[in-house]
Amino acid sequence: MEQLKHLIRDIPDFPKPGILFKDITPLLRDGAALRHAAELLVAPFLQEAISAVAGMEARGFIFGSLAAASLGCGFVPLRKPGKLPYATHRETYDLEYGSADLELHVDALTPADRVLLVDDLIATGGTAAAACRLLTACGATLVACAFVIELQGLAGRAALPGRTVHALLRY
Ligand code: AMP
Repeated sequence: MEQLKHLIRDIPDFPKPGILFKDITPLLRDGAALRHAAELLVAPFLQEAISAVAGMEARGFIFGSLAAASLGCGFVPLRKPGKLPYATHRETYDLEYGSADLELHVDALTPADRVLLVDDLIATGGTAAAACRLLTACGATLVACAFVIELQGLAGRAALPGRTVHALLRY
């Protein structure tokens, strides 16, 4: 874990003053570490019959796709408004810096699906909570939420009551 932590770069005051941005690009650049992180992310869920991984734009697409490949299932993108071409469900949420909307194709998941939600980082948990609402709007079973990084001081887990939350690197 310490090796992975060395590949997370702190960028102070990005994208706004007062935000300590966790830059994952050094981790993405290191092939062995990236594979290791992706394996650790899905390890608790290998026996959970996950049928789809859902990931949030944009960094959730990277780890979510790797997770889906590891689990041998498909990937469902949760996107910013106006990006998905078909009919969508939409949820609004608050970020550590601002607010935003997230969309999901209405037919992306069915009640038969068992879903793992993946993102690079959980801060306040607002993004993940909105994603959980989107996924359950389709009737899918949300098995767990998995993050590479958890900023524990922002208590994101409290925004996901009753959810299984897995995080690799805690700060
Ligand atoms: P939150 O909704 O507050 O849990 O914020 C999580 C989302 O915002 C994730 O998609 C992260 O990529 C991004 N994010 C929030 N805070 C940071 C941070 N300090 N460093 C990097 N990304 C962040």
